[in-house]
Amino acid sequence: MKLTLKLTTYSKLVILIIGICSLFLLLFLSLYLYTVQQEKDVFKDNSNQYKTEVNRLFDFNSKTQIVTINDLTYWDALVKFTNTKDTIWYNNYIANEFPTYEVDYISVYDLSKNFIVRSSNSKIKTKDFVPIQAMMHLYRNKSSRFYMRVPEGVVEVFGGTIHSSNDPKKIKTKPSGYFFMARLLDKKYFKNLEEITTSKIQLLNKVDTDTIGNKKVTSVIRLRDADNLVVAKLLFERPSHLNFERTKELLLIIVIATFFSLIGVFYYSRKWIYRPLRLITTILESDQEIAISHLKKEPGEFGYIGNLFDDHRRNRFQLEKSKEKAEESDNLKSTFLANLSHEIRTPMNAILGFSDLLLNENLSDEHKKKYLKIINSSGKSLVSIIEDLIEMSKIDAKQIAPKFKGLNIEKCLKELFNTLKVTIPEDKNIELYLLKNTYKLSGNVLTDEIKLKQVIVNLLTNAIKFTEKGHIAFGFSICPDNKFLEFRVEDTGIGISKKDLDVIFNRFRRIDDDYSISMSGLGLGLSISKAYVEMLGGHISVESVFGGGSVFKFTIPLLYDESEQNKNEVEFEIMQNDSEGKVILVAEDDNINFLLLKTILEKKNHKVIRAKNGQEVVDLSISNLDIDLIFMDIKMPVLDGYEAFEIIKKQKPESVIIAQTAHSSTEVKERIIKAGFSGYITKPLDKDKIYELINKVFQNDTIC
Ligand code: ADP
Repeated sequence: MKLTLKLTTYSKLVILIIGICSLFLLLFLSLYLYTVQQEKDVFKDNSNQYKTEVNRLFDFNSKTQIVTINDLTYWDALVKFTNTKDTIWYNNYIANEFPTYEVDYISVYDLSKNFIVRSSNSKIKTKDFVPIQAMMHLYRNKSSRFYMRVPEGVVEVFGGTIHSSNDPKKIKTKPSGYFFMARLLDKKYFKNLEEITTSKIQLLNKVDTDTIGNKKVTSVIRLRDADNLVVAKLLFERPSHLNFERTKELLLIIVIATFFSLIGVFYYSRKWIYRPLRLITTILESDQEIAISHLKKEPGEFGYIGNLFDDHRRNRFQLEKSKEKAEESDNLKSTFLANLSHEIRTPMNAILGFSDLLLNENLSDEHKKKYLKIINSSGKSLVSIIEDLIEMSKIDAKQIAPKFKGLNIEKCLKELFNTLKVTIPEDKNIELYLLKNTYKLSGNVLTDEIKLKQVIVNLLTNAIKFTEKGHIAFGFSICPDNKFLEFRVEDTGIGISKKDLDVIFNRFRRIDDDYSISMSGLGLGLSISKAYVEMLGGHISVESVFGGGSVFKFTIPLLYDESEQNKNEVEFEIMQNDSEGKVILVAEDDNINFLLLKTILEKKNHKVIRAKNGQEVVDLSISNLDIDLIFMDIKMPVLDGYEAFEIIKKQKPESVIIAQTAHSSTEVKERIIKAGFSGYITKPLDKDKIYELINKVFQNDTIC
């Protein structure tokens, strides 16, 4: 049991195959031995049968001569001839009949063994060759058959004692002489005997034992003389029709085939079972990809297992990746929260701290102004954080779609240059350049102005943030294919290391060095920029030398605005005459917001009336004919800003109404303009923007 457990599947298979093959070989060996034995037995039986048959036929071949000699030797006239030796009688009755006796020689002897007469044909020339010994034996036995050598060859001799006719059995009377017949064992004799026995016959002088030929049965007949001594031997041979050789050949072929099958089985079991099993073990032990790809190439189930391993490996990698991502995003979230807390607390700290100082201390006007500036910029930082967060979540929820309109790119870049130039801190030794482009654009480019500006502002803000001295330059050029505009923002700032280049476009990613950490930021600017650029149909990239500055590039499709409206767009210069002393209805449910707006408006000598909800705005605006302008909060109790707007516009279509909202998204802005408001302001309120807007409204009536 223990041994079976230690053995591998392949070794078990090999043992099984060897076992089965050994069993087969044993079986074939027993069959072979059985066949050999069977062959011997059958051959022996056949040989014995053949010997008996040959002996019988051999005797049968001499039957005529034996009968003839028996018939002749109890004849009174022959008895008389042995006494008279009358040759005339002999010639008449015996010699004349000689050819019918089917022998080659006849001789007669008297009782004293003296030769009397003989007859022979041309085959036997010797006259008297029968030995006295033979006659002595014949006297005792009355008849005999023996063989002897004569000069002509070996002869078969038949002898019989001569008796009177009243003693056919030769037992009553004494013989009166001896009668011999002989025939030569010549070609004719053998041919005849071969025909009878259907054998091949050889006359041998020395053969001691029967030889068992491979494919022949044999029989040996010893030819003995009168004294029972062997004179010669006759070897009879007949082809054996037993074909055990075939069976043995067949068995040998089976053994060879089994041997080759064994080699084949070893080769293929190595290839089909051992190799794939080794691969599986390697995969399980060391998870080698190469082993999986080899296993996949195996035919049948192993290939399928290879595919499963591959799927499993891929899933595992994906899981690991997802896990890493989850962990990373978890880390990012924690860092982000810590970051966010820091980013909010810093300006909040400034706002609360300095407002506290403003409340409690006797300060000079200069100090007050300084503290208020700090509070103001901290508030702006807070708003920008909130806007970035909201923007990112909208991008995630795919709630943002670009609004394409014709844009004068050169003008837009000039405006940005002017706006951002003043934001460079005085303590930084930086020059800001707007790069001149050699190729003039032939018209307005179709793009989303707000998003394009946002991207450039983000890149420039970063450049200013991460550069202490040197220059920052930005501009655009037309790509060689004439299908894209390429914008670039370059600086001579701290630069970005290679490893950080891959991640800075990911959200909440900030470089983990002391300098970056010391700078404020949530790590959202570049990911929002990337999302915007892709939304506009372009691509953003960065090249940077750590410590040597960075170049951010992004593209947008170069599509000219073909619409007539834009071509004929008339640009109007805004008159800088301030509009003052108007009656303005402020619809605002929040007291602080109202107080702020009221203070801003009263600074320009406007008269401010308040409505606390939508219904009050409607009532006041319809009843009070002096109202020049309404600031309508969108989110109000009873009636919201849109509903109140619709009612007022129906009753007093000439009313000038500006929306004020806490939502800064493009969608909200679009909706406000679509509804027909004369303009909008977003919270937190910027007094300069408000004054500018009021001027525009009173000079042009509608701002879009
Ligand atoms: P943040 O609000 O933190 O600036 P951003 O997504 O805009 O987030 O930028 C991610 C990080 O990329 C920054 O924290 C800073 O480390 C790096 N970075 C961005 N612009 C530059 C630049 N011009 N020079 C050097 N580092 C920069």
